[in-house]
Amino acid sequence: MHCPFCNADDTKVIDSRLVAEGTQVRRRRECLTCSERFTTYESAELVMPRIVKQDGSREPFDEEKLRAGLLRALEKRPVSTERIEEAISRIEHRLRATGEREINSRMVGEEVMSALQELDEVAYIRFASVYRRFQDLTEFREEIDRLEKEPGTHHRSVEKER
Ligand SMILES: [Zn+2]
Repeated sequence: MHCPFCNADDTKVIDSRLVAEGTQVRRRRECLTCSERFTTYESAELVMPRIVKQDGSREPFDEEKLRAGLLRALEKRPVSTERIEEAISRIEHRLRATGEREINSRMVGEEVMSALQELDEVAYIRFASVYRRFQDLTEFREEIDRLEKEPGTHHRSVEKER
């Protein structure tokens, strides 16, 4: 693949190993032109079930949204990107393993909570306390964004609306 630093055509794989319980291959690559190193993750592209939201509408599963929700909860927490990516793979694997073509958005939220519980207690509490009220990742993220724009009023505004 092309080097993300200098865009040269040739890069070589210098290390390759299985991660995320064998569902991903992690490769360290080195550019033959500029010698920069970078990492790629390879996993099988499989069809994810569609998500049924609280209001009954359907939307495609969105890995970016899942990642954004996790990153938001894990902001400034001592958890490596690699562990976060592994958690994302595991969540996706579990959702696919249901064998369902459609799954409730609540189930995604529950999976995120159990992943966070393993990764970081503070992030788990951060996520759970807000998420329990919303049951939807998009709403959750919007709420966190809103709270962050009102420094000092976090707890009060959350308590009031409960
Ligand atoms: Zn390069």
